[in-house]
Amino acid sequence: MRSYQIVDFGRPLQEANLPDPKPIGDEVVVAVKASGVCHSDLHIWEGGFDLGGGRRLTLKDRGIALPLTLGHETAGEIVSVGPDVKDRKVGEMCLIYPWIGCGVCRACRAGDENLCMKPRCLGIHCDGGYSDRLVVPHSRYCLPLDGFDSVIAAPLACSGVTTYSALKKLGPAIHQDPVLVIGAGGLGLMCVAILKAMGGKGAVVVDIDEKRRDAAVAAGAIAAIDGAAPDALKRVIAAMGGPCWAAIDLVGSPATAGLAFDSLGRGGKLVTVGLFGGAAPWPLPLIPQKATTIMGSYTGNLAETRELLDLARSGAVAGIPIRRRPLGDASEALEDLKAGRVVGRVVLTP
Ligand SMILES: [Zn+2]
Ligand SMILES: [Zn+2]
Repeated sequence: MRSYQIVDFGRPLQEANLPDPKPIGDEVVVAVKASGVCHSDLHIWEGGFDLGGGRRLTLKDRGIALPLTLGHETAGEIVSVGPDVKDRKVGEMCLIYPWIGCGVCRACRAGDENLCMKPRCLGIHCDGGYSDRLVVPHSRYCLPLDGFDSVIAAPLACSGVTTYSALKKLGPAIHQDPVLVIGAGGLGLMCVAILKAMGGKGAVVVDIDEKRRDAAVAAGAIAAIDGAAPDALKRVIAAMGGPCWAAIDLVGSPATAGLAFDSLGRGGKLVTVGLFGGAAPWPLPLIPQKATTIMGSYTGNLAETRELLDLARSGAVAGIPIRRRPLGDASEALEDLKAGRVVGRVVLTP
């Protein structure tokens, strides 16, 4: 098998040629057909997150060992299964659920493996899909595509389920009022498309990049506003038709968190998803005075991923712009994403 690995944080990925894996027990080996390049791959590659105030969360401290094959948005064809696998067969095309936990803790038993404190996520703690082969620890993480396109399906495993889960946390508000979506990268465009598929009222999108704003409008956003404009807040409230009830911050910087919070009316809800970094900008007394709910959302669980795949297979989720690149372009794809040169999603196709 051929994999592209982080050998040193921040250094170009290295090609590794390893023996083909043989599945044991419940394991499944997949020939990767599509592997999405996600913004969080950048943070892993760089080796940490900025926590604000000069503090940094390093992945070394979190026990992430190198070398590591990135890639958590994977779809592919099953090429071999372990002796205990009964429900999946060689030749089936599947979307791979990557947010795998220990399987025994409270979160895992409740079906929220994505919130496990001892995670074994593919492409983060274990080797992922920047490779032509992927070992999946259990067949239950292989969700059959049933004819759905693997390249369109792959981003559902992260950007798709992340935005789907965040939208679900907003509750019935999405059917009554527009949602403020900050960030029109791969996640933002996916968010606009999934909100529409869920029967939402629509999205007002904020991004500082004109090309990404245009892409958001093309994806069906009600309006796309430049977050760097001095009157951005006024423009957001005008486009929303009043203060906002429900906001999703897909960037997660002090500036975007501030704009989202300031846009909210009393009783509004902000779901924070983005991992850009920095410290919270809100004055504490305003949180009770505005009775604001601020909550985080991290990826999504297996059940949500199944629901989303069903929704996508029904044809309800409009496609986001996808650029296919060969597996060998993995490092350049990360560089392009870092430099802001990507509209939509890059999917590596080994
Ligand atoms: Zn991701
Ligand atoms: Zn667990």
